[in-house]
Amino acid sequence: MILCCGEALIDMVPVQSESGQAFLPLPGGAIFNTAIALGRLDVPTQFFSGVSQDLFGAQLAGALEGAGVGTDTLVRSDCPTTLAFVALQDGQAHYTFYDENSAGRMLGADDAPDIGPDISALYFGGISLCADPAASVYADLALRAAGHAIVMIDPNIRPGFIQDEPAYRQRLNDMMAVADIVKVSDEDLDWIIEGDADHATKAQHLQALGAGVVIVTKGGDGACAYLRGGNCVSVSVPSVVVVDTVGAGDTFNAGFLAHLHDCGVLDKTALKTIAAATVEHALGFAAKVAAVTVTRQGANPPYRSEIS
Ligand code: ADP
Repeated sequence: MILCCGEALIDMVPVQSESGQAFLPLPGGAIFNTAIALGRLDVPTQFFSGVSQDLFGAQLAGALEGAGVGTDTLVRSDCPTTLAFVALQDGQAHYTFYDENSAGRMLGADDAPDIGPDISALYFGGISLCADPAASVYADLALRAAGHAIVMIDPNIRPGFIQDEPAYRQRLNDMMAVADIVKVSDEDLDWIIEGDADHATKAQHLQALGAGVVIVTKGGDGACAYLRGGNCVSVSVPSVVVVDTVGAGDTFNAGFLAHLHDCGVLDKTALKTIAAATVEHALGFAAKVAAVTVTRQGANPPYRSEIS
């Protein structure tokens, strides 16, 4: 079982109606996208987040359940759902967030679930590590679970969310120290490790902090994984007609974890000695999953039957 830990929110997507501009509420959030993708890939998955008892909270929980994702570890609260209003300017999405005192942000230390032997991996994202009190709850959970379960993190750097950069960098370093798998985009890597060093050197820098496998994705230019001990494997990505890259990295991550699950190596001990060929195949499967996502509007990950 994979426990996805992080934000679930509602994207208010602009649509034209007879009376002019309107907004369509669609479930979203980086960790939510990954959980939905894992569910659609038939990987046993559970979601840990604060979710409102309001109408949108019910929409989020319903979407998770519809994808087969377990919701027992959702923490229901009277706080509102985070809303992200989307404005499209020159084809680029710009977001305005309403997340003051939101259900997702107002998690407390007592809300964190116990990590039993049924949880083989925990998945975290950088956006939910930006704002306390929830951010501390997630970080503490990662440190607590790391002794016996795989920890994966995608820092998903969004400079606009980071209120206290030195504190955030420290939190990321703490996560790197316990992360068995780190997935960064090339842009994230250049933000985390400043300077002109190449990506191999920067990945080694993350490994010196404690990270295990470091995956670097480069949009349509492929992805590579740096293994402990210096091995590196890479894949090119399928050539597709891109409609929308929202959720590409989130679903890539789900594909990577799904392949490890399929191969029986989604296990803390097995991962330490994982073969480079298995990692390469996992990158390839992840790229196929993400390639379907980018051909569709919004983060709409594929079902397993859609992967060739
Ligand atoms: P993020 O979405 O986290 O910023 P990337 O932009 O690197 O990360 O995209 C993640 C993955 O999504 C890539 O490794 C690739 O598999 C897939 N992807 C992104 N853009 C494209 C594209 N233009 N064509 C095919 N696949 C893509």
